Amino acid sequence: MQDCRGREKMKKNIRDLDQADLGELVSSLGEPTYRAIQIFNWLYARGIEEFSKMSDVPEKLREILASEYTAEFPEVFDVKISRDGTKKYVFRLFDNNFIETVVIPENKRTTICISTQVGCKFGCLFCASGKMGFIRNLNVSEILGQVLYIMFRKQIKITNIVFMGMGEPFDNYDAVIKAIKIINDKNGIAIGSRKIIVSTSGVVPRIIDFAKIGWQVRLSISLHSAINETRSMLMPINKIFPLPRLFDACRFYRNETKRRITFEYILIDGINDDEKHALSLAKVANSLSADVNIIPLSIIKQSPLKPAPQEKMIWFANRLKRKNVRVTVRKSRGADIKAACGQLAGLVR
Ligand code: SAH
Ligand code: SF4
Repeated sequence: MQDCRGREKMKKNIRDLDQADLGELVSSLGEPTYRAIQIFNWLYARGIEEFSKMSDVPEKLREILASEYTAEFPEVFDVKISRDGTKKYVFRLFDNNFIETVVIPENKRTTICISTQVGCKFGCLFCASGKMGFIRNLNVSEILGQVLYIMFRKQIKITNIVFMGMGEPFDNYDAVIKAIKIINDKNGIAIGSRKIIVSTSGVVPRIIDFAKIGWQVRLSISLHSAINETRSMLMPINKIFPLPRLFDACRFYRNETKRRITFEYILIDGINDDEKHALSLAKVANSLSADVNIIPLSIIKQSPLKPAPQEKMIWFANRLKRKNVRVTVRKSRGADIKAACGQLAGLVR
């Protein structure tokens, strides 16, 4: 299709339509609504990128769709493979922005860590995506395209999806919610809600919205300090939604969904790794029945912060355990290819 100057018009991506939109589209073209279910199945359960392959859809309809829409995934620009088997894919988007997606194999599961924005506006002191600033939100097709590319072009079976790549998922809330519905839909990508984790730096109004949906999708909160001053220093969002408001939202989430929250806690040398921080974290984790996941700080060149030494991590975890907190210590994966938490910056370095 060409515009008035004869240039190829940019086609919309059909994966930006949800099932209801697809239904309306096929009805507006005079087709029965079950065609939308067939198309949905080709797009998500079979990962088809060409309308011509939708063999049970009438040819005329396929042609109309192909003239208006594309079903292609974003294109991969670069792949890096870590010594530990972690793979980082750099996708180039239609407007020449780059995002990163990380695939982490471990025993029987394979986790994909996906991006939701190009950059991030929240500017956490320790995070490469934050240092980039905010460029734009990803649309639904770009969020899902990361998963589908890995599943269908790379033929990698994905068991778990974490929204922990570039960007703040709750700052692109509507697109993230639409994407989760399709990921979770048994006629779509069909990954169970308990295998999906959304991580937020604490966008309080969206935590409330998310709680009200009542899904079994897991929620992680990037806490990094249970002391207000420390958190405000590390994470500027804390000045907008300070800890008392964040904890109220967590309590609301817990009461609405009955699900346990996980607090993500990066241990930073000399900043949040002492007794006072351990005790304040234990107190709030206990009062909210939350779990704690301790993460080693990944080093990024834009930040002078240093990871707490290994012995300190063990001490900190034990301090929490003695207070009856459920603690896990996460291993850093893919640091040699800058694919570890917080190292994603959408540039090929
Ligand atoms: N914006 C969301 C999700 C993306 S960040 C959030 O902040 O939760 C995913 C996780 O990586 C978060 O827990 C974040 O705090 C963590 N992270 C960011 N920078 C990091 C770093 N340098 N080292 C370790 N973890 C980091
Ligand atoms: Fe944004 Fe999350 Fe990075 Fe903070 S940690 S800058 S919220 S991506």
